[in-house]
Amino acid sequence: MSTLAIGAHPDDIEIGCGGTLGKLISQGEKVTVLIITDGRAGSLEQDSLELVKLRQNEGKKSAKVLGVHNLISFDLADGLVSFSRDEKLKMIELIRTIRPDTIFIHANDDKFNDHQIVRSLVLDSIQVAAGPWYSEVGGSAHLVRKVYGYEVWNPINRFQLAVDVSDFMKLKLEALKKHKSQITDINYLDGVKGLGMYRGAMSGVGKYAEVFEVMQHHEL
Ligand SMILES: [Zn+2]
Repeated sequence: MSTLAIGAHPDDIEIGCGGTLGKLISQGEKVTVLIITDGRAGSLEQDSLELVKLRQNEGKKSAKVLGVHNLISFDLADGLVSFSRDEKLKMIELIRTIRPDTIFIHANDDKFNDHQIVRSLVLDSIQVAAGPWYSEVGGSAHLVRKVYGYEVWNPINRFQLAVDVSDFMKLKLEALKKHKSQITDINYLDGVKGLGMYRGAMSGVGKYAEVFEVMQHHEL
């Protein structure tokens, strides 16, 4: 079984579903992480090109902590306003190549602009990757059975799935600490921990939880 986690920026995935990915990896799932932008707007002080290099490095270190099998970046400039046809073709091709059973993407309640654009790009591509369309893209049609939305800067209002990540909270925070450039401006680690604890208490699944919007859940 394989999972593809997609985020607009280098630290989004760890914030939204780092614990769940750690848990899946411990169960033998093959996990690929795809970062869409280079994160160049992610600092108030750093020069943007230096920041790109720094964030690529931080992303690599964090993926290593989580035990991610494959880390891919599309390297689009941060601050997206839309996505192009070429980017859509690239996404369809990636889905048809990796052929994941599960995709994690930004939840609908997360209204941060880049997150919404990346979400549309991915949801559009998931739909067409499953059909006969876009034959110019390599690979045969592939249906992604499970699509889950995760929360980053706006908590999900109504979630349909809660995952107990109590045993993986430490790993998630360790991975997030690798994004040093990001926790310098705002140290959000306590926020992430607090939200995880709140999700755990309210869902009742464990001390810490991550919650998801379920968009697609086809049984085998
Ligand atoms: Zn982001």
